[in-house]
Amino acid sequence: MINLILIAAPGAGKGTLSKDLKEKYNYVHISTGDLLREAASKGDELGNTIHDMQTKGELVPDEIVAAALKQRLQEEDCNNGYILDGYPRTVAQATIYEEILQQLHKDLGIVIVLDIEKEQLIKRITGRRLCHGCDAIYNIYNEEMAPKNDNICDKCGGELYQRSDDNLESLENRYNTYLEKTQPLIDYYSNKNNLYRVDSSRGKDDTLKQVEDILNKLGDSVDKN
Ligand code: ADP
Repeated sequence: MINLILIAAPGAGKGTLSKDLKEKYNYVHISTGDLLREAASKGDELGNTIHDMQTKGELVPDEIVAAALKQRLQEEDCNNGYILDGYPRTVAQATIYEEILQQLHKDLGIVIVLDIEKEQLIKRITGRRLCHGCDAIYNIYNEEMAPKNDNICDKCGGELYQRSDDNLESLENRYNTYLEKTQPLIDYYSNKNNLYRVDSSRGKDDTLKQVEDILNKLGDSVDKN
């Protein structure tokens, strides 16, 4: 399967789309935010630094993210199509990523941009709830994604929690960083002719459908589970 890079503002639905593609097509989902949260949870000096930066919504230094990503990409499961969620986030990271791809003999694939208005992001971020047990994603403000009980996972009964950076102050930071540093990537990839745009304002099933249409048009051999 073709590798995918997802570019979108925080809360636009990259994680949800990735989970849907993983469930339906066995795509491997690589979220640099998750990789970094895992490193942060070790609680050592580096971990604490990462945790502070994530909580404030600042970008973690390139070397740290690149090292974590390169290690993950070398795992066996990445040989058959993966989704990069949250990387690259700057043009500098796009260049670093090209070097990593060369070193590991992997293809860039295609880039998908999820478009959405800022007003909607606020609801998505402040309503987002995650499951400690199975990583399921919910949104208490959205019918399609609301859990039956605000604190408990429908799938595994695990406890739901809010990410430390899912608050209005951190969102403002993350959104400004997106506009300043990540949006220039859209031109960067558009010039390489491998960029596709999807409207992610209409909900998760609609977003998935638009991505499936793109993959089908490209003639990608996606094997449904
Ligand atoms: P979101 O896209 O909703 O902001 P993520 O889970 O992708 O959430 O990222 C959360 C945080 O992790 C970011 O605000 C940043 O601190 C850090 N992070 C994730 N990916 C990168 C990256 N590619 N470069 C630098 N920092 C990153």
